[in-house]
Amino acid sequence: MKYVDEFRDPALARKVLKKLHEVVADIPRAKERPLQIMEVCGGHTHSIFRYGLEGLLPKGIEMVHGPGCPVCVLPMGRVDDCITIAEQPDVIFTTFGDAMRVPGSKKSLQQASAEGCDVRMVYSPMDALAIARENPHKRVVFFGLGFETTMPSTALTVMQAKREGLNNFYLFCNHITIIPTMKAILDEPGMSIDGFLGPGHVSMVIGKQPYNFIASHYNRPLVVAGFEPLDILQSLLMVVEQLRDGRAEVENQYARIVPEQGNLHAMAAVNEVFEVREHFEWRGLGSIAESGVKIRQGFEQFDAERAFSVATLQVEDPKSCQCGEVLKGALKPWDCTAFGEDCTPETPVGALMVSTEGACSAYYSYGKIDVHQAG
Ligand code: SF4
Repeated sequence: MKYVDEFRDPALARKVLKKLHEVVADIPRAKERPLQIMEVCGGHTHSIFRYGLEGLLPKGIEMVHGPGCPVCVLPMGRVDDCITIAEQPDVIFTTFGDAMRVPGSKKSLQQASAEGCDVRMVYSPMDALAIARENPHKRVVFFGLGFETTMPSTALTVMQAKREGLNNFYLFCNHITIIPTMKAILDEPGMSIDGFLGPGHVSMVIGKQPYNFIASHYNRPLVVAGFEPLDILQSLLMVVEQLRDGRAEVENQYARIVPEQGNLHAMAAVNEVFEVREHFEWRGLGSIAESGVKIRQGFEQFDAERAFSVATLQVEDPKSCQCGEVLKGALKPWDCTAFGEDCTPETPVGALMVSTEGACSAYYSYGKIDVHQAG
């Protein structure tokens, strides 16, 4: 299959791995402590474990799993808000499937559905719009979440709702932006990340220029990476070559998908419908300035936060949950006492165990970890 088989070729992978080992062996500081490379995107985390790449890497590389799984960084208070909305009379609450099982402080959307709320799984915001057309006497709410990758389709859906004059469609906007979050990670005291694999899907929309400050201000290399095994290995090679040469640049390994300038049409739709929020709360990372968007004036009739007066309270994670430390790369998933015991993909305690892109779920499914020995 074009663009798949050639990126999973074992012979080519062995060649890239050999080169990767050689380059890391040429970096003296990698002998003192492993080079920490953060894959920002949960899709990369999933691929790294699914294809067993971590076990093939030189000992001088340590992968740190970043915050790029939107389900995983959704705070409990926002899940509680979803349930408050879903429990209102005449509401049909629509959501992507992976958000159904994220625990709120009392229940998940899946549990709310079992208790009688009309919660429906959709594959796109346009599905939610179709439900609104078919149910003019119901209030249909779409739970919009995700980074810049999914923002354009939500924006286009709101624009379409306005064109059609629909008055029973609402967006509960929880879209977030990656750049302020990366800056927050880089500003953490004791930050020890040496380089980044940049998120491929987000970059397809925003392009590569927004990352330039990481190289120029923080002196860290970033390589925008694809999701197949060879994409990831080649991107890691590009990062360590920069570290060996003392360079810090933004490079684009995923050029077959990511245009240098991003997708200008998609960004225009996003800017028409959304504006930046002052702050947005992230699970484990706290409140980060300008890291989320809300609906602009002109589209406010579709804003579920106005129509349903949600509380948006900050709710602490359970004491046993160490998602925040895992998200910041300070702990590995198996360091969490709940990992594999109280917290499994069937019974998630924290959000990192819910989505297949979550670090805990990826480790649990593919990591070959004996949880009884790991702690
Ligand atoms: S094991 Fe569960 S509770 Fe612990 S960090 Fe992972 S998702 Fe959070």
